[in-house]
Amino acid sequence: MDRRTLLKLIGFGALETTFAVSFPSLVSAATGQEVQWGYGGERGSENWGNLSPEFQLCKTGIQQSPINLQGGIASELDAIEIDYKESPLRIFNNGHTIQVNYEPGSSIKLDGQTFNLLQFHFHDPSEHTIDKKPFDMELHLVHRNEAGALAVIGVLLKQGQHNAALQPIWDAFPTRNEPEQVVKTVKVNAEKLLPLERKVYRYFGSLTTPPCSQGVNWIVMQQPVELSQNQIQRFADLISIDARPLQPLNNRFVLRSM
Ligand SMILES: [Zn+2]
Repeated sequence: MDRRTLLKLIGFGALETTFAVSFPSLVSAATGQEVQWGYGGERGSENWGNLSPEFQLCKTGIQQSPINLQGGIASELDAIEIDYKESPLRIFNNGHTIQVNYEPGSSIKLDGQTFNLLQFHFHDPSEHTIDKKPFDMELHLVHRNEAGALAVIGVLLKQGQHNAALQPIWDAFPTRNEPEQVVKTVKVNAEKLLPLERKVYRYFGSLTTPPCSQGVNWIVMQQPVELSQNQIQRFADLISIDARPLQPLNNRFVLRSM
């Protein structure tokens, strides 16, 4: 089977037609109120689908993320063209994670389409697992194309060497509930956060936070990136656990670069 037919078969062909997923929003369209959610207790991930009609897919969706990445169909996937530029550090703590908003002008090319980098953020522990193995943390780089479709690059982070590229971000961690801070003297380049080897897993899934919108193009790097125990601890001190449990694969296929 050629690559194009294979991509169509597993759903990536859907990208050739226009479709859109709603972008994460915490404000209910029905009530205009912000819907509070979290990772434990009554407002934890098991109950997200009950917190708001807008969060229904968290409960009923059958293409949800994260998943366990295991096996996968070995495929000759085109390299993802990455065109990231430096951005001044725009960082905030939304109570669920530390997020860095990215200056417009950085993008990736995926199956011939351009997706612009909007922001990146972190999860502790990792959300995706490989062969059921969780990692210490996970970085998500969120992109959107003109039609509104999302593509997220996931990078698994594991304890090891100090990560110099992450440190300026770690040094600027805001305490809870502060608005976005712009640290003009600090520039970040998201490309430095990626592993050297660019083999990936690809599948179609969802946002891993409410409203759990589906149709998200997931690209998870096979090679993890290291950060130090101190860096892991510093994030944990601020955010603690912010990872959604694994979701069933259901009728989906995972592609794996050879
Ligand atoms: Zn995420």
